[in-house]
Amino acid sequence: MGEIDLHLHTTASDGRLTPQDLVKLAAELGLRVIAITDHDTTDGVRPAQAAAARFANLRLIPGVEMSVDIAEAEVHLLGYWVDLDNREFQQLLAWSRDGRVNRAHRILEKLAELGLPVEWERVRELAGDGAVGRPHIAQAMVEKGYVADIREAFDLYLGRGRPAYVERERLTPEQGIRSILAVGGLPVLAHPADIAGLEELLPGWVAAGLVGMEVYYAGYTPDIVGRLQGLADQHGLIATGGTDYHGFGTPDEALPGSVDVPREVVDQLIKRRFRLAS
Ligand code: AMP
Ligand code: ZN
Ligand code: FE
Ligand code: FE
Repeated sequence: MGEIDLHLHTTASDGRLTPQDLVKLAAELGLRVIAITDHDTTDGVRPAQAAAARFANLRLIPGVEMSVDIAEAEVHLLGYWVDLDNREFQQLLAWSRDGRVNRAHRILEKLAELGLPVEWERVRELAGDGAVGRPHIAQAMVEKGYVADIREAFDLYLGRGRPAYVERERLTPEQGIRSILAVGGLPVLAHPADIAGLEELLPGWVAAGLVGMEVYYAGYTPDIVGRLQGLADQHGLIATGGTDYHGFGTPDEALPGSVDVPREVVDQLIKRRFRLAS
């Protein structure tokens, strides 16, 4: 069981645990450093910080996970220590969240055409105040009995290239990287193993200011970790990691801390943060 998990979701986006409950779980599991990385929002960070203050041994890194756009792949960027109060950055995240709502409506239109109607009101309710994501739509589909579970909803309908898949407007990876750097954050490439052409794409992203890449991630085999470690070394990227825990409660879900992340990673991130700031 590891002590570091730098990729966690809460109800501020498509996670199922409130920031408070996630922090409590992390503390109970003996974690020492966690990062809150919700999709296109930092709203979960302050409640999590308040909760984390009660646990002397738990350090919390404020973060965000942004979706960026390249052809034929889903690329996510983690931003650690982004300035939560920067107006332009918050406006950018709000723009992304609007895109999520718009996209959700279009997904529901496609589902209706497929004979699988889902009410927007229910999706909104499941998302609560948080950023809407496909997992909320998937959950509504499970409730309707259209699919057995969230995974099946993605495999049959919502995943990229499936019949109810819809693109949304997103920043380019370079724009995402620069927007994170502009607010004092460290841009880190999330779950890169499945990005086709990663080797060719990385140099441009590194040139734009990428500082790290997730090498340790739920489900990554030693082979994958080795390959990613090699790429990270080659490009001088900090090899980070986390579980991407959402609290879905599925049997195969990796619990916070269940991916081993070396301790040095946090020191490397902190050093890089201060080097960039000075
Ligand atoms: P969205 O933010 O709407 O693009 O949805 C992306 C989120 O959906 C990811 O962060 C995962 O939580 C979830 N997701 C993506 N692919 C799958 C899949 N195949 N099975 C289950 N969940 C998935
Ligand atoms: Zn998610
Ligand atoms: Fe992601
Ligand atoms: Fe994630």
